[in-house]
Amino acid sequence: MENNTVCQSCSMPLDNVALRGTEMDGSPSGDYCKYCYQYGAFTHPGWALNDMKAHLTRMMDKEKMPEDILEAAINRLSHLKRWTNNNVDTDLHKQDGF
Ligand SMILES: [Zn+2]
Repeated sequence: MENNTVCQSCSMPLDNVALRGTEMDGSPSGDYCKYCYQYGAFTHPGWALNDMKAHLTRMMDKEKMPEDILEAAINRLSHLKRWTNNNVDTDLHKQDGF
């Protein structure tokens, strides 16, 4: 199991195991937080990257987070595993053609 230090969906820090999501068997997820991922499934499976950005903006606004922290979190999102899967698929196709 990989152990990422931030949620690979919303970029929330995962240093506390209580914040980790759960796999289908109830074990802690190595990738996602409990708000994004429970029992092996995303809690918002239909969300695109833009939906997550809007969600983060709303949450941090409510918490009165400084704007630079919000910006850093938003920038980080596009590098997370959940939002880069499409790129991986494209790379595989390229390899097939080669
Ligand atoms: Zn998350």
